[in-house]
Amino acid sequence: MMVQHRPPEELLLDYAAGNLPEPLSLLVAAHLTVCPESRREVRALENVGAALLEDIEPAEMSDGALDSVLARLDEMPTAETRRPRTHARSRPDPDQSPTAERTILPAPLRAVAGEDLAALPWRQRGGSVSEVDLLPDCPGYRTRLLRIRAGAGVPAHTHDGREFTLVLDGSFSDHTGRYARGDVAVADSEVTHHPVAGKERDCICLAVTDAPLRMTGPLGRILNHFIDM
Ligand code: ZN
Repeated sequence: MMVQHRPPEELLLDYAAGNLPEPLSLLVAAHLTVCPESRREVRALENVGAALLEDIEPAEMSDGALDSVLARLDEMPTAETRRPRTHARSRPDPDQSPTAERTILPAPLRAVAGEDLAALPWRQRGGSVSEVDLLPDCPGYRTRLLRIRAGAGVPAHTHDGREFTLVLDGSFSDHTGRYARGDVAVADSEVTHHPVAGKERDCICLAVTDAPLRMTGPLGRILNHFIDM
């Protein structure tokens, strides 16, 4: 099934240029494993970048500048290492069959979280949401796997910064649409939403935020004091 909600182009552009902080780079890499269209776009953007580099006259660059460009290229993961090793072809259609836990996590995420979802140190947040923190050493970002119980909701909230959510299994819906495997939802301080997981099964997603969420609604304002979402 095709991905309906692809990440904004500037996110793919920053990924292609190697400019994303690790949490967002992880989210995009995981998205790319399930979205051929975004893979094509990233490849095209990489080619544009390479062509631009070739067009630069050597005389215009100091020795130091050239060295730093070359060093930069060395650091950039090549298209091959970034590209997924597990593929949609070997993955059962999540809407047709029960998905084995290990196939839920795309390869880039398995490299960070391990193979076994159930073995992760899930913490319960309220009755229907549990979470695991990933990449704790990335200042300014919070990177989490969330599991929202089938049919249950995350409390209504808005955002002080940006929130990127990649769905890995199941689905969730809010007033902006329905998000299933591979879809990326982007929210910011303009967006107040109340995501609700689809009834088919638990929704598992990767969420990256660069500021805490702010619960809204009468209960939410109280919850803010107790829950560090
Ligand atoms: Zn949100």
